[in-house]
Amino acid sequence: MSKALRLSEKWFRFGLWVVAFVFASFLIGLGGTVVRNLPKVEHNYTLEDFIDQPAASQARGTIKTTQKTRQDAQERLEQARLKHSTARANSVAARETFNNWLATRQATRRADQDPELIARTQELDDLKSAERKALGDVEAQQQTLLDAQQAEARAQGQLRELEQTAAEKLATELRSQELRVFLYRLTLTLPLLGIAGWLFAKKRQSTWWPFVWGFIYFALFAFFVELAPYLPSYGGYVRYVVGIVITVLVGRYAIVALNRYLERQKQAEALPDVERRKELGYDTALARLAKKVCPGCERPVDLTNTAIDYCPHCGICLFDHCGKCNERKSAFARFCHACGAAARESAAG
Ligand SMILES: [Zn+2]
Ligand SMILES: [Zn+2]
Repeated sequence: MSKALRLSEKWFRFGLWVVAFVFASFLIGLGGTVVRNLPKVEHNYTLEDFIDQPAASQARGTIKTTQKTRQDAQERLEQARLKHSTARANSVAARETFNNWLATRQATRRADQDPELIARTQELDDLKSAERKALGDVEAQQQTLLDAQQAEARAQGQLRELEQTAAEKLATELRSQELRVFLYRLTLTLPLLGIAGWLFAKKRQSTWWPFVWGFIYFALFAFFVELAPYLPSYGGYVRYVVGIVITVLVGRYAIVALNRYLERQKQAEALPDVERRKELGYDTALARLAKKVCPGCERPVDLTNTAIDYCPHCGICLFDHCGKCNERKSAFARFCHACGAAARESAAG
């Protein structure tokens, strides 16, 4: 892509790269929208989908009723306690009065007061029995409260058990849903990656290369950036295994490409000078010369040394002499820079 040396061509190529990136960014936006909308094809599960509904609603109903009972019992207990303490206060006050009266009577020893003694004792007994009855009410309310509390605790325990079972089922379902969503995304992005690989192998040099490269970038982005967060983790196994597989594939491709390049280079260096010159593109040769390497074998050559006419590594002719004016000139130049005569054997390209 960097072989273009003409100024306008360079700018055109730069513009086309911009087109490639813009094309890729729009494709990425479109792909991202599609991928984002994918979870909507799946139901959004909650605990309620897996809980044993009849049992759960029964337990919830029990909890509600017992809560109500407990609150009522609590209120009634407070009332009963108040009544009991009033009754006790009455009883204590009456006993004090009675004791005082009794002390007075013993001092005076009046027999006509005996009926009053009986009446007062009777009154005291009544107060005592009222106090005992109030205490019985308090105890009854305490019993009701305790029953309600225990029933509520039991129902809550049942509900917790039901919820725990449901949570396990929900976790299993969510895991398999996660895997399904990942597989949807994979079936969308993997073919894109395949197409991108085919385009890279076959079409990257075609006239329509900006679109080809735009699509390749889009596919790479969709696969490695947008798919990666949805990779199920399974404790990191999937991530690392996928990483290893991809690294092996990329590494294998690079090694094969390197060997193929070396093989091609070896074959090219074995060809006669004229044919090698034809194989080389004009712009490729100029670009390599500008980098101070031999256009034939890409090894460094001192081009400023006028004594060097041939590459010391591969033997390709670097400088020759014009057929018309005999000026020393680059063997890759199409015309003599001194007299403008066409080179004898022009380089291909
Ligand atoms: Zn060379
Ligand atoms: Zn010349």
